[in-house]
Amino acid sequence: MRILITDGLHERGRELLIAAAQVDDRTGISAVDLLDAVPNYDAMIVRGRTQVTAQVFEYGTRLKVVGRAGVGVDNIDLAAAEAHGVIVVNAPKATTLAVAEHTLGLMLALARMIPRADSSMKAAKWLKKDLGGVELNGKVLGVIGVGNIGSAVAHRADFLGMKVLGYDPHRTRDEMYRWGVRPAALADLYAQADFISLHAPLNAETRCMIDAQALGSMKAGVRLICTARGGIIDEKALLDALESGHVAGAALDVFAGEPLGITALVAHPNMIATPHIGAQTSEAQERAAQDIAEEVLAAFRGEPLRWRVV
Ligand code: NAD
Repeated sequence: MRILITDGLHERGRELLIAAAQVDDRTGISAVDLLDAVPNYDAMIVRGRTQVTAQVFEYGTRLKVVGRAGVGVDNIDLAAAEAHGVIVVNAPKATTLAVAEHTLGLMLALARMIPRADSSMKAAKWLKKDLGGVELNGKVLGVIGVGNIGSAVAHRADFLGMKVLGYDPHRTRDEMYRWGVRPAALADLYAQADFISLHAPLNAETRCMIDAQALGSMKAGVRLICTARGGIIDEKALLDALESGHVAGAALDVFAGEPLGITALVAHPNMIATPHIGAQTSEAQERAAQDIAEEVLAAFRGEPLRWRVV
């Protein structure tokens, strides 16, 4: 069995794979070289960079499994995988805590303008009077997408004294209450939330869901956090809302045009930007590598799969 790694994999997963198969690490492989290489492999393990297109499945005549070491499978053409009878598996739980903690970090950083405070100190400026913040205690947090990460954020925000509203059309009210979230209609969440954190996948429903109209119906002075996927927020509309002051601050880890978002948005003084590092903790990467290695090997052994996407 030959397995191709295209976006790096933590040593823990690599060890498990090497014990059972021939493993080639071609991290950073170009789209053209991938088409050349893929006919030689039974499995591929990717993260978010590699685009596993319909063409990859056409060329990959030996491919039986594609593993995504992480959650999002928007870089894999799932319809093509299905058409070619290729199993797709992911590791949806491995990065939950890392992303939830990064979200909380961004929320605290927004509330107290920590990045501006730090950069002003580094520029030898003492901006104490300009850096008055707000507290999270007693504020309303609106969570859009109450799945693994959204519920982990909600649970932690509850401990910080926040009242958590949740909007998720695919979850029951009971599920939400179990996670300490008060279910809300989207319009009510927009009207009441002081902070809004996005945790839905990018799909036809959510693409550009945070547009000028949505931003306009949010409470004046709202602070917005997105560690989900670029493309959910209309970045131009967000820039306008930051400039008008209707949105007091925004913190984004993900951008429509990665590796960089709209430069003027990233540069805005009330904006905090991080380069898609939500899942970048050593613990999360180790868990993701182990989970995906076990899942890919289980697929080959015909064992029951925990996280089969296709
Ligand atoms: P999940 O599937 O557990 O939860 C997503 C939730 O969104 C589900 O409950 C689903 O019902 C809900 N949802 C779907 N459509 C919706 C809509 N139109 N409105 C509101 N909710 C909707 O996924 P997760 O593991 O919690 O991941 C959440 C997001 O975080 C995804 O976008 C994922 O790609 C992203 N993510 C980012 C990073 C990072 O590095 N920043 C890492 C991992 C995951």
